[in-house]
Amino acid sequence: MRRTLVAGNWKMHGALPQNEALLDALARGMAQLPDVDCAVCVPYPYLHQAQQKLSGSSIRWGAQDAHQLEKGAYTGEVSAPMLNDFGCRYVIVGHSERRSLYGESSALVAEKFAAVQKAGMTPILCIGETLEQREGGATEAVVAEQLDAVIRLAGVQSLRDAVLAYEPVWAIGTGKTATPEQAQAVHAFIRGRIAALDGQVAQGLRILYGGSVKGSNAAELFAMADIDGGLIGGASLIADDFLAICKAGAMDKTVQV
Ligand code: PEP
Repeated sequence: MRRTLVAGNWKMHGALPQNEALLDALARGMAQLPDVDCAVCVPYPYLHQAQQKLSGSSIRWGAQDAHQLEKGAYTGEVSAPMLNDFGCRYVIVGHSERRSLYGESSALVAEKFAAVQKAGMTPILCIGETLEQREGGATEAVVAEQLDAVIRLAGVQSLRDAVLAYEPVWAIGTGKTATPEQAQAVHAFIRGRIAALDGQVAQGLRILYGGSVKGSNAAELFAMADIDGGLIGGASLIADDFLAICKAGAMDKTVQV
C-alpha cells in the first residue's frame, strides 16, 4: 500500500519560538488527518526540539543531509548515526541545492543514501533536471543517472526502504510548478525503470513530487497515478499552507500494491 507522504524541507529557516508555534499547529492539524503521512526535515540544531514536540504525534521528523561516513575528522559535518540519536525517521539526500551549491555527485549521494539506511533511517533521495537539461531533451537521462548511481551502489532492494522525490530544479523555489502531466510522465519513467529490475519494489516505492507545491495545486498533482505525495520547501514554513497540502494528500487515492 502506498500511503501519501507530505514531507517539509525547512532548508536553512527557523528559530526556536517560531518552530514551536509551527510544530504545535502541525501536530494539532495532523491529528485530524489520519490517512496521510507527514514529516518535517529541519535544520540540525532543531532536531531536539522536533523530537520533543512531535514525539507522540503522527508526524515524523528528519534531517536534510548526512555525511557518508560514520565518524572522523570532518569538522562541521554530521553523520547518519548522530541523526538516528535524535529519532529521525527520514534524511533527505541529493537535494538539488546540495548537488549544485556543494558539488555533490551522484556517486557521493549514493554513499549518503547507503549511510542513512545503515544507520536505520529512510533516505528521501532527490533527483531532477535543470531547465537547460529539460529543454535539451535530457530529463530522462539525468534522472536515470541519478537513480542508477544509488541502485549500482546499494542495489534495487535498497529502494524497499526509501522514498524518491522527483524535483525538477527549475520548479524549486521559483513559483513554477511542473504540470501534473509533466510530473506524472517523469514519475512513470522512474517507476518503470525500477520495475524493469524488480516490479514489486517499483510498485511499493513512494515517489514524491517537489517544486513549488502549494495548497492550490497539490490535489491535482497528488491525483496522478505515480505521484505519491510531495516534498515541500517554502510552503512547509507556514502551518496553514503546509496543512492545506497535507489535506490534499489525505483526499488522494491510496494505492494498493
Ligand atoms: C524543495 O526545497 O525541496 C522544494 C521543493 O522547495 P519549494 O517547495 O519551495 O519549491
